[in-house]
Amino acid sequence: PASLSIAVALPDHKEVRAVSLLRAADTALTRARRISGGSGYQIYDSYMQTRTLRRLTLGTELRYALERDEFSVAYQPIVAIADGLIVGFEALVRWNHPQLGFVSPGEFVPVAEESGLVVPIDRWVLSRACRDIARWNGGRSRKKPLTVHVNLSAHQFAEDDLVDCIVETMSQSGAEVSMLHLEITESTLMQDTFRAVEVIRQLRAMGLRVALDDFGTGYSSLSYLHLFPLDYLKIDRMFVSQVEAGERDRKFVQVMLDLAETMQLVPIAEGVETTAQRDCLRELGCGHAQGYLYSKPVSVQEVDALIAVGSIAV
Ligand code: C2E
Ligand code: CA
Ligand code: CA
Repeated sequence: PASLSIAVALPDHKEVRAVSLLRAADTALTRARRISGGSGYQIYDSYMQTRTLRRLTLGTELRYALERDEFSVAYQPIVAIADGLIVGFEALVRWNHPQLGFVSPGEFVPVAEESGLVVPIDRWVLSRACRDIARWNGGRSRKKPLTVHVNLSAHQFAEDDLVDCIVETMSQSGAEVSMLHLEITESTLMQDTFRAVEVIRQLRAMGLRVALDDFGTGYSSLSYLHLFPLDYLKIDRMFVSQVEAGERDRKFVQVMLDLAETMQLVPIAEGVETTAQRDCLRELGCGHAQGYLYSKPVSVQEVDALIAVGSIAV
């Protein structure tokens, strides 16, 4: 479909140079394209300059972050709501830059997406997470191994060698396929639906499980959603945080849980922060949850202690 982006830059009261005005318009145009999917307008302001500078800095620094070993992985437990038993962990990338300090993935992952740098970063996280989960399951006699959920960016999902890369990473790490779950967002699936169905089929045929992340925040259509052979549905924090706010909000989550059941997906509630939310989710029949109520994402060392106990009582 055709699209149109408009940028507006106005001269300020000081001396005006055509070149800086054009540069400002260009910045606003880039932003207009980015945030409104190609159709919209943006008026340049000085905030934009600060933001642009920050993105540029992050983009440059990200290029060296892997070789300088600035990334780490934090793990957030996923628990069974009924008894607080830890069933697995979500791997979340962390970036600690010597000068910029801690930069949140919410800020740098989109920058890394833009440059494609997210692919090597995601690979690194995958390999780290596979090694950790192999170790955590080592010597444990559990019918069901602990699992690790790894986020896949749209970029990585689109890589031709995705499946090979995962096979190779797993075999190097000693992790078994039943231990790895991949998280994919709606928008990633919608980029190329036919290929997505095929890739997910391949992954599942190998024994991996796939979760639909941030469910309810993207633009997926139900007519497509049922085509994807998925295993888990992660109900976004946006809905979970409102679940006990009123009858309407509660029903909304109920509908999502019904949908999960119809599609034979295991629901996981994200961002559970209060016991009231947990109780409500339990009544609605949601089996799994993660959130600050149980635990914030923690370091590898802290995971050892959590696993030793095995469950989180709240
Ligand atoms: P996400 O995949 O939806 O991950 C869940 C986010 O919610 C995490 O933020 C987590 O720390 C946060 N969270 C968990 N429980 C609670 C809660 O009770 N309350 C609140 N307020 N927040 C909670 P984080 O770690 O900052 O990550 C943000 C996003 O960055 C992730 O959202 C994911 O989209 C992306 N991301 C993180 N790690 C990776 C990665 O390794 N690869 C890729 N491609 N993306 C990643
Ligand atoms: Ca996720
Ligand atoms: Ca999520």
